[in-house]
Amino acid sequence: MLEKQSLDEFLSSINKGKAVIVSVSPQSRASLAVHFGLSPLQVFKKLTTLFKTLGVKAVFDTSCSRDLTLIESCYEFITRYRQCHLTTDEKSKLALPMISSACPGWICYAEKTLGSYILPYISSVKSPQQTIGAIIKNHICQMLCIRPEDIYHVTVMPCYDKKLEAVRDDFVFQVEAQGEKITEVDSVLTTGELLDLVKSRSVDFASLEESPLDKLLANAAEGGHLYGVHGSSGGYAEIIFRYAAKTLFGKEIVGPLNFKTIRNSDFKEVTLEVDGETVLKFALCYGFRNLQNVVRKIKAGKCEYQFLEIMACPSGCLNGGGQIKPKAGESAKDLIQSLELKYMENVTEADPLENPIIKGLYAEWLDEPGSEKAKKHMHTEYHPIVKSITSQLQNW
Ligand code: SF4
Repeated sequence: MLEKQSLDEFLSSINKGKAVIVSVSPQSRASLAVHFGLSPLQVFKKLTTLFKTLGVKAVFDTSCSRDLTLIESCYEFITRYRQCHLTTDEKSKLALPMISSACPGWICYAEKTLGSYILPYISSVKSPQQTIGAIIKNHICQMLCIRPEDIYHVTVMPCYDKKLEAVRDDFVFQVEAQGEKITEVDSVLTTGELLDLVKSRSVDFASLEESPLDKLLANAAEGGHLYGVHGSSGGYAEIIFRYAAKTLFGKEIVGPLNFKTIRNSDFKEVTLEVDGETVLKFALCYGFRNLQNVVRKIKAGKCEYQFLEIMACPSGCLNGGGQIKPKAGESAKDLIQSLELKYMENVTEADPLENPIIKGLYAEWLDEPGSEKAKKHMHTEYHPIVKSITSQLQNW
């Protein structure tokens, strides 16, 4: 399946009679925006022109599906917190820390290397990539009276590991018992591969016309601007922290959160105190060195955090291996700084709970956060990968 995830496969699928839909990540938009000296909104509109010229039917935005994953994550955290704190059952006390699940680099490492003890801590919420796939292949298809097997869904991501995520069996479903197997995401292109496409077609990207956006699944307001959450890797810790502070302790946090750097810039924590007591303690933990330290603490039962936003790449998704590389003479550090500034340029910060598209999805399809339908379509499971006897013997 992985060999199918290439530019050639994407281009040939356009001519095979399927309706091709492309979902673009905000990190990829930022990478192209820095590369071409444009704003993320300009990039999104020009990508819409580029893809539609090639024959793509719709171009969507994974910052929209990410809002849905954030809401489901908030509800999951509150459920786990109550399970952990309002019980005497020792097993239920292991519901925390909850660990974010949006990074396939981290999930792969946990399943292959850490074994079964870590998996119950990982949030069951799917990543924004798989969530938008589930929305398109289940709900949008039904709305538009298109069979899911007649849609070819491609994502543009900052990361090669997203290709591995897309081919997991957990993200394949069947509409009928004997029916065709449907994959939520048929193919993943990295940002760099998209740039290769632009170059191979000799497209003057910066001069392309700007097309209207497909607002069905895009965080684009009527006024024409983009909206979304802060946090270059999704803002999981920040959004869940604010929601938990309000729901569990009645504390509305106004203004930016005060993340303190611990050890290095890729490990930061934020706390909430009530009556002199620390009641919430969350951390951002990026890069393998940091995540290895924190999982060691979890294993030893000494982790003081209730939520961990773990990302495998140092600096998170903006620095993913599939992003456009620094230009000649530009350092990786300078590029990351430019990307962080560009990521939210002209993008209005907005509360996921107020996203009108997501409210519509709950009203028309999922009922409410944490519902049976939401669990079916928006949540998943993880599996420890047991090495075969042969491979274990090879390691001796
Ligand atoms: Fe991919 Fe890196 Fe982001 Fe993880 S942190 S999802 S490996 S880009």
